[in-house]
Order: sequence, then C-alpha cells, then structure tokens
Amino acid sequence: MKEEDSRITKKKQTSVITPARRKRINRLKKIILTTVALLILLPVTGCIFLGVKVSRLNRDLESMSMQVKWLERSLWDVKDENDRAKALLSINAEMQHTQEAATPEAMGAPIAGESVSGNDLIQEGQRKVYLTFDDGPSIYTDDILDILGEYGVKATFFVTGRGKEDYLDAYRRIVEEGHTLGMHSYSHEYSRIYASLGDFQADLEQLRELLYQETGVISNYYRFPGGSSNTVSRTDVQELITYLDAMDITYYDWNISGGDAVQGGISSSQIVSRVVSQLASHEEAFVLLHDAGDKRSTVDALPEIIERIQDMEDTVILPITKDTVPIQHVQKSQ
Ligand code: ZN
Repeated sequence: MKEEDSRITKKKQTSVITPARRKRINRLKKIILTTVALLILLPVTGCIFLGVKVSRLNRDLESMSMQVKWLERSLWDVKDENDRAKALLSINAEMQHTQEAATPEAMGAPIAGESVSGNDLIQEGQRKVYLTFDDGPSIYTDDILDILGEYGVKATFFVTGRGKEDYLDAYRRIVEEGHTLGMHSYSHEYSRIYASLGDFQADLEQLRELLYQETGVISNYYRFPGGSSNTVSRTDVQELITYLDAMDITYYDWNISGGDAVQGGISSSQIVSRVVSQLASHEEAFVLLHDAGDKRSTVDALPEIIERIQDMEDTVILPITKDTVPIQHVQKSQ
C-alpha cells in the first residue's frame, strides 16, 4: 500500500506546474510560434520575392523576344538585300557578258553619219562635194570645225587613235556638230596595220572601240591609210576588203587631192587651186585634205575652198552618209 501511495504522490507532484516549468513551456510556445510564423512567412516572402523576380524576368523576356523578332526582321532584310545584291551582281555579270558578246550595233548604238541632215536637200543633177579630213584629230581640228560651222557645212573626218589622248573632245565635237566620224586606222603605221589580216582587224577594232567609248556612236566608214590602192600592204587588199564587207564597213577613197600630204608643205593658195581646178570634172567629188599639226595651210585654205564651191552652180557640200555611193580605187573582186 505504501508503495502505491508514494507513486500517486509522485504523479500529483508531476502534474503540478511549477513557475519554472511554466516558463519553460512559454519559451517552448514562443519557439514553436516563431518557427511556425517563420515557416509561413519565409515561403510567403520568398513567393513575393520570386513573384517580383518572375515578373521582372517576364518583362525582360518580352523585350528580349521583341529584340529577337526585330533582329530576325533585320536578318531577313539583310538576306533580302543580299539576295537583291546577288541578283544585281548576276544581272551585271550578264550585261557585261552581253556587252562583250554583242556588237555595239546590236545594242542599238547610233551609227556615225546617220543623224546627219542635209541629204534631203539634194536635187537631181546637183554636183556633190564631200570634204574629207584624214589623220586627225590635231591642234587644228577645232579651227577646221569652227570654219565649217561658220559656213554651215558638214564634212567627214577619217580619224586615227594612237597618241590622240589630248584630242578626245575633238571626236565628240565632230559627232555633236553633225559631221561624219570615219576611221583611218588606230596606229596609222603601215608596217603594223598591213602586216596581216589579224593585225588589220585588231587595229581597226581598237579604233572603233575607242570612238564608241568617246562618242557613243559606231563608225561604219573607213579610209585605208595610203588608200585602198596603196602599194605598201603586205596583205592582199582583197582580204581586207572582204573583212570590211563582213563588218558592214564601207571604205572611201578620193578623186580629188588637195595635195597637202606632201612633205615640206604646200601653200594655202596652191591647195585651193588644186581642189577647185579638179571639181568641174567630178559629179561626185571626194576631196582629200588633212587635219594634222603640220598642216596649217589646209586650215588657211579651207574658207576659200568652201566659198568657191558654194559659188558653183548646182553644187552642194555634203558629209558622207550610209547613202553615199563610195569611190574606191580598188573594188571588191567578184
Ligand atoms: Zn593618213
């Protein structure tokens, strides 16, 4: 019994809350509450924090996706530009190829002498006089053009190309003022031009190309240096004529010489009388004169030559055109 009593007493003793025990309980309560509060608060603040972060990230993402879209568009633009550039390049290449392959005529370039007016004024039975100037341009081309302009006369210039860098304007002026631009070889060097058909061809093409570059017109007129009857050619002139024919180029010789080609010079009055004295015997007169740095007397003779021709009855001064029947010392053999 005693034993049982003492256990009950112990039980009673433990169920009694002492202040110390209460204190401990309170502390425990606080700890638990704080822990619970912390357990609730931490995730909440975490959530808020994360929420803010997420929304900020969202904004960033949105702006980034806008940037990506913009970049994409730019890329497409660049790609388009690229494609366009590529297309342009290929068109350019194509055009270059065509330009190389096509003759200027095929590209619709104007033909020298085609726009020259005056032929419609010709009447039946009129004497036709063609003033032709070989070897230019030179320091005198402008003077010759000025004189022709003063008299309202159109002429034909058979020009060369080598060493004429200072006279490129003269080629243009000849064309612009309505005269006919003819070819007289690029180099005017007999040993070179007449060495072979290939050399003749290369020389002519070089001049034709130069004139086309400078004036935009194609010349279809040729005057053989020394004439088609020259005795210096090492190539059969018939070969050269056949080539010109195939190129649709007409060559013109002359039937009146002003005599100004002679070395040592000739006076202007001599040139005038030589030209004028022969005119009467030609219904179609092709007058050979020269446009060269050592031929001042030709320039001086020109006004009088023109005046004397204009004083002749039923006589007209014309430039060579595609309709001009050529005078040829050597004709194409059939
Ligand atoms: Zn010449």
